[in-house]
Amino acid sequence: MIPKDHPRYESLIRREKIAEAAWDKIVAMEGVGSHGRGEAFDYLIGEKTTPSALIAEKTAAALLLNAKKPVISVNGNTAALAADQISDLQKKTGALVEVNLFHRTEERIQKITKLLEENGVIVLKGKTERLLPLSHDRALCIQEGIYSADVILVPLEDGDRCEKLVEMGKTVITIDLNPLSRTARTADLTIVDELTRAIANITEAAENMTQEQQKKLIENLDNKKLLKSAIKSIMENLSDAMDRKAQA
Ligand code: ATP
Repeated sequence: MIPKDHPRYESLIRREKIAEAAWDKIVAMEGVGSHGRGEAFDYLIGEKTTPSALIAEKTAAALLLNAKKPVISVNGNTAALAADQISDLQKKTGALVEVNLFHRTEERIQKITKLLEENGVIVLKGKTERLLPLSHDRALCIQEGIYSADVILVPLEDGDRCEKLVEMGKTVITIDLNPLSRTARTADLTIVDELTRAIANITEAAENMTQEQQKKLIENLDNKKLLKSAIKSIMENLSDAMDRKAQA
């Protein structure tokens, strides 16, 4: 039992959710490793949404609201941490939700779909075909979903698929705490923030923005600048930590 007054309560709760979901075979063992990498970067960034991440989140909301066919691609970690939040985001943006897994088994697809549906998500179902030019199972998707999306939110993505989705002409939004990853550098828009903070902020922005604000955010999108800001935030955070150490 994690005490509520623990200074890192939120992070430990997320870790517990990932561990439970791994036991339930919703999260793959490899996904536990990915979560650990995310935790490390979250520590470096100060476990908070930086001003540039908030801009990225608002821009993500604008892109999803202005899309012809927005799709959210969900994997095990995303479902384990944010099934209820995905439901809210789907309601606010009208996006389709499709389950897409690297470590794909029919059992995991069904378990993740069930978890999402229990939390109010409408999960896209249909014939799954090998439609993306990838040798692994993330190539498998639904024609009316990921394959034909114009804007796609792929939280916690792998670099390969991100690259292919961009090459297919889709606008790719990712959420990745590691600003150095291939995914972060390949996507059209990278939100360098923790998944649950990011989804909450995208959903809030989707409720509260005028058309004019949305247009401006899309026009001003500059992913290189956002990534530079994220790296700068990490460096400033480390520098503050060194100063505090020197004073101790
Ligand atoms: P790439 O191929 O893009 O270089 P990778 O091999 O570094 O990817 P993966 O394990 O495929 O990484 O994807 C996980 C990524 O998601 C990691 O970069 C990790 O930092 C990030 N991540 C993990 N958990 C979270 C989370 N809760 N919120 C945001 N980002 C996360």
